[in-house]
Amino acid sequence: MAERRRTGGPRSAAARGRAGERPGGARAASRGLAARGVVAIACCFVDNAGVTRTMSVPLRRFEEATRFGVGMSSLFSVFLVNDAIVPAPGFEGPSGDFRLMPDPGATVALDPMPGWAVAPVDVRDQDGEPFPACPRTYLKRQVEALRGRGLSVRAASEVEFFLGRRAEPPPGVGEEGDPVPSHLGPGYGPQALARHAGFATDLVRALEAQGVGIHKFHPEYSIGQFEVSFPARDPVAAADAVVVARQTIRAAAVRHGLDVSFAPVVFPGAVGNGAHLHLSLWDRRGRNLLTGGDGPEGMTRTGEAFVAGILAGLPALVAVSCPSVPSYLRLRPHLWSGAHACWGRENREAALRFVAGMAGERRVAANVEVKPVDGAGNPYLVLGSVLALGLDGLDRGLRLPEPVTEDPAGLPAGRRKRAGVRRLPASLGEAVAELERSAVLRTAMGELLYGAFLATRKGEAEVFAGMDDEAVVRAHRWRY
Ligand code: GLU
Ligand code: MG
Repeated sequence: MAERRRTGGPRSAAARGRAGERPGGARAASRGLAARGVVAIACCFVDNAGVTRTMSVPLRRFEEATRFGVGMSSLFSVFLVNDAIVPAPGFEGPSGDFRLMPDPGATVALDPMPGWAVAPVDVRDQDGEPFPACPRTYLKRQVEALRGRGLSVRAASEVEFFLGRRAEPPPGVGEEGDPVPSHLGPGYGPQALARHAGFATDLVRALEAQGVGIHKFHPEYSIGQFEVSFPARDPVAAADAVVVARQTIRAAAVRHGLDVSFAPVVFPGAVGNGAHLHLSLWDRRGRNLLTGGDGPEGMTRTGEAFVAGILAGLPALVAVSCPSVPSYLRLRPHLWSGAHACWGRENREAALRFVAGMAGERRVAANVEVKPVDGAGNPYLVLGSVLALGLDGLDRGLRLPEPVTEDPAGLPAGRRKRAGVRRLPASLGEAVAELERSAVLRTAMGELLYGAFLATRKGEAEVFAGMDDEAVVRAHRWRY
């Protein structure tokens, strides 16, 4: 039922076919969009800074765009969060163009933004070949690698966001002040729902009707904070859901005179916006490999190796999943953001929280939650990197260390060692150094993407070096 509002049905041939080929799904998608009053499609590319950039085409050009793409400078691979552009290998000068190829099967009409649809994109070069630094193609490659082993992943994101009113000063009059939060708690309190019932209703209705679907929606812990989470689906669709949902949330907020921030931190010192990622691993026979086995917490040995690979790669992963300078104001102990590399059943301070699910539903529900992920992370790069690490765990047949159910920050040295507890990087600079040592992520990303990604992270670390927390937070608050 929910899938009905997605255009073009299941992953279309166009998504898989070569550029220039006539995409079977595009015409039907175009007709479906027209029937819903869509006049233009926002093709959305998420860059290496985690910022969404867009080029729109009128509906009339949509089919053509699915074949020949929409042109954009390839330098969008090396944009920083503040729109500065940095050089990187393969991105040295002002020349170069890539094509955003909207995926008709993933294009969604936005209820709170009548007349508009959002299209997730693959990036191709002008010869129609996949652009090597395309984030969505990177994720597809990892999905393919899993498929080659007879495995698949189901994934779902949680999206936390700040809802409030931006305090815009008149031009030229000092710094922007703090935004006014939409609610002051209590955390998880129904007061916030009552106060913003119009926004909440619009959002739930839209996401359900658009086929993104909502798993859960609630006011979160921090002032002005809400969270929406989504049903599990294949990884590319799970990342697309984040892109579509974010624009839906923005549009619903604007209709109620409100502004939205997905930035990792909106007020220095407060609990931040996470983007936790839930994953389960499945075999060809439709068995969830995180349950029903003889490994720890009932994981199968394959499931254990996959999770152990993610655990082993966490220090480098955070450069991708917590990629901004303020990400490290969030990634701190006791904020439930997963600042310690360790794993444990239902441990909300562990970077990997094993979720067993209720008796009776475990076959479907058992999953692992990756907590050190925030709103600055590009959902395609984050998921692609998590899968690459899981694949490495499979290759190496890794085993998990002891689980941790206590607060990892306070563990005695012996337990810390046996459980392999490690404080994750405390700054973007530290995380980048870890990524530079990660042969797994380097190989998975490929040289062009890896080089561009590193250049942008180093660029941001340099731009914001020496700035106080207030200034850093202010510079990021409305970028994501
Ligand atoms: N807001 C927390 C974070 O930054 C997560 C809170 C929760 O467990 O939902 O990750
Ligand atoms: Mg939450």
